Amino acid sequence: MNIALIAHDSKKELLVQFCIAYCGILSRHNLCATGTTGKMVAQATGLNIQRYLSGSQGGDQQISARISCNEIDLLLFFRDPLTPKSHEPNEANLLRLCDVHNIPVATNIATAEALIHALERGDLDWRQLLNPVD
Ligand code: PGA
Repeated sequence: MNIALIAHDSKKELLVQFCIAYCGILSRHNLCATGTTGKMVAQATGLNIQRYLSGSQGGDQQISARISCNEIDLLLFFRDPLTPKSHEPNEANLLRLCDVHNIPVATNIATAEALIHALERGDLDWRQLLNPVD
């Protein structure tokens, strides 16, 4: 499965801790991330992560493009809902595309926990049956 990771600045450490905790599961999948998020998670976990640009430089749009092509099976996007972002319209579109393409998406750690367990159980495998891209 192809998993995309994004975290706003105030949530990056939380995502790092999440990825450390679930490193064993995540290591069996293809990971990509926005720039700084990917760097921090890779440094902390040793996971192999394809890194895109920073969100503010268009990294979220690069991930959006992959979602549009059905190349992403799961998005973990740890959002900070309290701090306005300059690239908020792009992020809204990213979440819109997840709904267009029925991509499971977590925007907080509670949902991410539920999805990672679902991933481990194989509950998300139906996506690959519909879209066998890898
Ligand atoms: P970053 O981008 O991982 O490069 O910080 C994500 C964001 O938009 O905050």
